[in-house]
Amino acid sequence: MEKFDVIVVGAGLAGLAAAYTLASEGMEVLVLERGDYPGAKNVTGGRLYVNPVRELFPDLWKKAPLERFIAREGVTMMAHERSLSIGYDGNELLEEPQQSFSVLRAKFDRWLAKQAERKGAMIVDKNRVDDLVREEGRVVGVWAGGDELRADVVIACDGVLSLLAEKAGLRQPGNPKDFAVGFKEVIELDSAVINERFALEGNEGLARMYMGEVTRGKFGGGFLYTNKDSISLGIVVGIKDLMEGPNPVQAPVLLDEFKQRREIAPLIKGGATVEYAAHAIPEGGLKAMGKLYGDGILLAGDAAGFSMNIGVTVRGMEYALASGYYAAQAVIKAKAAEDFTARSLAIYESILNNSFVMEDFKSFQAAPEALENPRFFEHYPELLGNIMRDIYAVPAGPKNRLYPTIKQYMKIGELWSMFGDMRKAMKI
Ligand SMILES: Cc1cc2nc3c(=O)[nH]c(=O)nc-3n(C[C@H](O)[C@H](O)[C@H](O)COP(=O)(O)OP(=O)(O)OC[C@H]3O[C@@H](n4cnc5c(N)ncnc54)[C@H](O)[C@@H]3O)c2cc1C
Repeated sequence: MEKFDVIVVGAGLAGLAAAYTLASEGMEVLVLERGDYPGAKNVTGGRLYVNPVRELFPDLWKKAPLERFIAREGVTMMAHERSLSIGYDGNELLEEPQQSFSVLRAKFDRWLAKQAERKGAMIVDKNRVDDLVREEGRVVGVWAGGDELRADVVIACDGVLSLLAEKAGLRQPGNPKDFAVGFKEVIELDSAVINERFALEGNEGLARMYMGEVTRGKFGGGFLYTNKDSISLGIVVGIKDLMEGPNPVQAPVLLDEFKQRREIAPLIKGGATVEYAAHAIPEGGLKAMGKLYGDGILLAGDAAGFSMNIGVTVRGMEYALASGYYAAQAVIKAKAAEDFTARSLAIYESILNNSFVMEDFKSFQAAPEALENPRFFEHYPELLGNIMRDIYAVPAGPKNRLYPTIKQYMKIGELWSMFGDMRKAMKI
């Protein structure tokens, strides 16, 4: 029976980062991926923030197939019949090295898989892992397509609904409140048309988030990213809100409605939808995380719960890349000691605790609860929309002064509610 140093399950960003790092150190790594190729089943918005992971993979960024660098930011509060948008253009967004990029996973993951293979990792696609192999309670390999494959350590990078994390007893079956679901289309458009429509030049890109009516006031939002010659457009909604909230709606309907909004329709006009995808996202944060390691096994990426939505940013890709890298570092240390027990692999948690990954999850641990406030997604977009409507209105008769126009919305009850909401939001 063949035995590897490490078996990595899942060729997403976490799995490929782990494989790349381990293979670079000369370890024998087997990556098993159930999709037709790495990236075939992987979904993101997608915007990758490079700063946190630049130094971990110094050789990768120059040649990586990134789409556009994000030179323009925006956020839109959508009410039923109107919306308020804020754009941000900062000179620092143009400076090199650029901070963040739009990406298409089918391209990016495939390329990253090639880099891992060049280092010596063996990647086998169309190969689903069904179970773990255990010996005296310790994980010693996996079952895939009826074959038993062995390794000193298994790194489970099998994504948000990680079968292996549950099988290893490292986490319980998910609670709907800790997950969101995303629906996304990639809409092809000529790059010159994109540049003209979004006032971009060359390889500049735009990222815009949407809140409010885009999810019919449910927890979540919409996103738009410009790629080289396409637009990624999608929505993310909390699964609990979708299942239990008032006004039940199917998530794909929300995406259709979003596309028909007058803020969006002209931007995608004439474009052809070339990709449609749906995927879950772990959004429970620190409180929803289980154990990150056991005897002979580590979890990385979404499988470990490393994804975070704080409204203005959705982040998961750099946590996946970094946790894959740190998992590999932990295995390299365990290999030096020839000890793959949970006690030895606990070093993974220490490394993560000293990294931006756990620092971020600790800093934002109150965010999921603070954002669980329907007023952010329904009341405020409507309120702001109404205020803007009245500010801009010039009636046939005399126009009201601006201060009383705004003040009519700021009754004492409203101000108290706002104060309460502010206190919650201050935890984010
Ligand atoms: C709609 C949406 C928008 C998002 N937007 C952003 C964004 O803009 N920026 C950002 O940073 N993050 C974003 N995220 C989150 C980000 O995409 C994820 O956090 C990231 O992809 C996680 O990477 P991963 O490698 O852990 O998991 P994945 O990319 O999901 O990879 C898991 C891999 O494991 C494979 N696999 C699963 N089970 C098995 C099995 N049993 N056997 C073999 N292989 C298996 C899968 O096929 C897959 O290739 C978004 C997510 C969604 C859904």
